[in-house]
Amino acid sequence: MTNPNVVVSDTQSAIAMALTAAVNGVSNSPPCGYPYNLTLFSKSKFPKSLETKNFAWVDAMRASSPTRNSSSSSSSEDKKAWIMKHPSALGVFEEIMSAAKMKQVVIFLDYDGTLSPIVEDPDQAYMAPQMREAVKNVAKYFPTAIVSGRCRAKVYNFVRLSELYYAGSHGMDIKGPSARKHQKGNQNVLCQPAKDFLPTMAEVYGILLEKTKGIVGANVENNKFCLSVHFRRVEEKSWNDLADRVKSVLKDYPELRLTQGRKVLEIRPTIKWDKGKALEFLLESLGYANSKDVLPIYIGDDRTDEDAFKVLRKRGQGFGILVSKVPKETEATYSLQEPSEVMQFLQRLVAWKRSVQRNH
Ligand SMILES: [Mg+2]
Repeated sequence: MTNPNVVVSDTQSAIAMALTAAVNGVSNSPPCGYPYNLTLFSKSKFPKSLETKNFAWVDAMRASSPTRNSSSSSSSEDKKAWIMKHPSALGVFEEIMSAAKMKQVVIFLDYDGTLSPIVEDPDQAYMAPQMREAVKNVAKYFPTAIVSGRCRAKVYNFVRLSELYYAGSHGMDIKGPSARKHQKGNQNVLCQPAKDFLPTMAEVYGILLEKTKGIVGANVENNKFCLSVHFRRVEEKSWNDLADRVKSVLKDYPELRLTQGRKVLEIRPTIKWDKGKALEFLLESLGYANSKDVLPIYIGDDRTDEDAFKVLRKRGQGFGILVSKVPKETEATYSLQEPSEVMQFLQRLVAWKRSVQRNH
């Protein structure tokens, strides 16, 4: 028996066979080669935030999407206290690297707001050529993965580096590099734990396009295994209306759930799979499931990246780095202010590795 939806190495062929059954909830077999129970949320276990009134999460959306000029709204005292708690990864670079000695550093990077600036039109979120160069250089020395809410093909089109791992749709669509860079681990990995949801996602995408037509600036993005409704170009007075319309569509689809990001509502299958699971899956694929010789570093700016930060905290291994100019509740250990600082951090990583190699 083979599963045409899953491309895996020989060592993972058994897992491939188990995948479809697991997604259907009829088996405890591990999806994508990792021992998770891929259970569905029951309707009663829908995230509580969805049951609260719109204004609560509209406020939360406002808070999680600070505009460029809003940093003054948080006092400098708060900011100082926050930076003490989550120091700049550039400021404590040497400390981070001392933890990396004799370990394989693995880099995980979110895309929007981390490698590219957040822009009004999500289709225009291009990466600066210098940033691409920095990521390319990092991938020469460390296994590197892009973990994004966008569909894998779209994020690949922005990044265009074949030597990276890509985890699109919040980790629900993972593929290894097409160009071989690192000897260790499985390069041919592909994991799509929500494959069975594709027809539903396509159907809901069509309905959402129709339902949101009347709201100026609303943009529904098809990210294959998840859908994003962007609020960025919608006037704030219409946010509640837009949210109501999205929720009215979801009433008929209990197998889907709604999550919130930076000026975006996202519709996803109700499987327990997120960026944190993607991170663990990739570490497993690289051969570091239970290894102490690995130092994963995950850099991201979004609420959805918190799942990955939590996994690192739980493992007691590696570091989460939140990209934010303003204090935010986070599980990340360190912080960076904006994509330009992410670039500097990546450049320093490369310089550090080169100096280590020169001295050996
Ligand atoms: Mg982001």
